[in-house]
Amino acid sequence: MNWDTPIRFLSQVGPIVAGKLKKLGIETVGDLLWHLPFRYEDYSLISKIGTLQAGEKVTVIADVREIKNVYTRRGLAMQKALAVDETGELEIIWFNQSFLVKTLKNARRVAFVGQVDTAGYKLTLVSPEYEIAVNKELIHTGRMVPVYPETKSITSRWFRNRIFSTLTADWLTEYLPQHILHRYDFPSLPQAFMQVHFPKNREEADMARRRFAFEELFFLQLLTLIRRRDWQSKKVSRPMAVNGERMAQFTACLPFSLTRAQSRAMAQIMGDLEKPAPMNRLLQGDVGSGKTVVAAAVLYIAFLNNAKSLFMAPTEILAEQHYATLAKLLSPFEIKVGIQTRSHKTNSSRFDVIVGTHALLEKKVQLDRVGLVVIDEQHRFGVRQRALLRDKGKAPHVLTMTATPIPRTQVLTMYGDLDLSTIDEMPVGRKPVKTWVVPPEKRIAAYAWIRKQILNSALQTLAFIVCPFIEPSETLTSVKAVNEEFKYLEKNVFTDLKLGLLHGRMKTQEKNQILEHFRKGVFSILVATPVVEVGIDIPGATIIVIETAERFGLAQLHQLRGRVGRSDVQSFCLLFQSEVNPAVSTRLKHLETNATGATLAEIDLKIRGGGQIYGTIQHGRQELRVANPGDTQLLDIARREAKNLLVSDPELRNTPALNQRLKSDTIPGQVAPD
Ligand code: ADP
Ligand code: MG
Repeated sequence: MNWDTPIRFLSQVGPIVAGKLKKLGIETVGDLLWHLPFRYEDYSLISKIGTLQAGEKVTVIADVREIKNVYTRRGLAMQKALAVDETGELEIIWFNQSFLVKTLKNARRVAFVGQVDTAGYKLTLVSPEYEIAVNKELIHTGRMVPVYPETKSITSRWFRNRIFSTLTADWLTEYLPQHILHRYDFPSLPQAFMQVHFPKNREEADMARRRFAFEELFFLQLLTLIRRRDWQSKKVSRPMAVNGERMAQFTACLPFSLTRAQSRAMAQIMGDLEKPAPMNRLLQGDVGSGKTVVAAAVLYIAFLNNAKSLFMAPTEILAEQHYATLAKLLSPFEIKVGIQTRSHKTNSSRFDVIVGTHALLEKKVQLDRVGLVVIDEQHRFGVRQRALLRDKGKAPHVLTMTATPIPRTQVLTMYGDLDLSTIDEMPVGRKPVKTWVVPPEKRIAAYAWIRKQILNSALQTLAFIVCPFIEPSETLTSVKAVNEEFKYLEKNVFTDLKLGLLHGRMKTQEKNQILEHFRKGVFSILVATPVVEVGIDIPGATIIVIETAERFGLAQLHQLRGRVGRSDVQSFCLLFQSEVNPAVSTRLKHLETNATGATLAEIDLKIRGGGQIYGTIQHGRQELRVANPGDTQLLDIARREAKNLLVSDPELRNTPALNQRLKSDTIPGQVAPD
């Protein structure tokens, strides 16, 4: 047996069970062991029958004196047993489990766990867990008992049996270096798995989890450091020099002056460009902080160095928009900007900058003269894609940009191979978007207010109305919903205004035309699904209404809100809820008082993390299973140990088990977030 042994090779796992397990993401023995309990029931206290009281949850160990099937009037089978210990008798009943009559007939020393009920004056246990307690370690009763995330007909009891026998099969070999186990007093691998699934007490479970948390962070750090080392060992495909004079000309041509933060980021990037190793930098900045113009300056430098650039956006619509923006910014310098998307193809060889979606990479564009790759909205772009850029010892400079605030711990883990620049300042004159959580009784008044704003010719206001987010991706249901909302608003609410409709299922050309019309004010209200979430830049839009706001996270709402407030005119965000309850309103009200994505993301994390046992945060499927990303202390230890190990043994020759584990596909961090 090993990590990768398919689960169906285990005894008692047939094809049907295997199919059900697959739904839980369990396909191998390793997956099974990593199916960790989400809580434990403490049944370690064993009570005597004579001391039981109604309502208690108890474990008793008793002999079964009688057990028989009894049939109710409706023909249901009920199993009635009488259990005794030296202090008394207890009635036990189950329903529809006729096989128990055979299993438990005359059984001695059976452990039962359940809630004590009273049937008249008699004490009864109804449908208790049971386990024969002779010559065998108890796993379902009489101890801390693990409770697992279950699926239809695969119960915690099933998991306990399978996991226990897998763990007692004695095949697990340690892969962490001994000196690390000793230094931090971590349990060994087999011990840790036993302790996390079948702990003697809470401390044991916590110690095991701490080891696993360390292990995850340690692996991530190793992978990150190795990736970083590999990237830096490459030569840059097109060496570059920065011409200060030309850069000054470029910034002088802009209709605004750069913020200090923009200039600082630019200086950091220029420092990278002049190095012989390729840049791999993440440019982080809140929505509207002005990342695009920084990217444009970098594209100009590449051009001056006779290198081609790729500029990649997450969607076609954004690619089109960036294409327009960049063409405007760069054409005065005789830079030829082209676009290549599914619906918009040009011959890439004639251009200095090619804008497209991430598909640009898979399409094998001529990478030979490409010296710079800019990737917008980094969180949808993974390590695997980045790997496509490397080629025979050479690589282009890579600049990725994101408006998603990434907490420090995550920067060190998932993005640890990137250098980081942050634009932490908004262009001058920007006013925070005034935000209101609108209660249902004020909806009509809110519509009237919007109408008045739009009809006020001095303002020239445009408004977004963002419709319910029904599925994680654009589906027919959400298209239907937005269609209906559009019709409703047109017919019943904004009868004298022009409305447009936008959803993700439209053709790119159609979408572009609608956005263009909106930009020009051909219609003044754009009803859209959340496709408008990232990056759309229509400075004339100053009102955004978000329907069913309770379905979104705060950071996501902030991104949506970022579609307005992109000029020095005061903008407004109105949050509507379809389901009103105090907790939701309180959560949404954070948007009224907080203006930055970073603080909102933190609040989100706190609220979501609140009721969770063990503080495990599941963000993205391949990320941390056990480690709490907020555990900076453990992260620092993991980082230090990973660094030390790579210094003393760069190829990990002395730790073959670790080396092999790192290459396996099943550890967190191997697959990039998407
Ligand atoms: P994001 O960082 O969200 O991608 P953009 O690059 O789209 O933001 O910039 C938002 C808007 O701010 C654009 O219309 C852009 O022209 C403008 N802008 C960028 N930098 C400045 C600045 N320093 N002063 C004023 N406006 C700016
Ligand atoms: Mg942007």
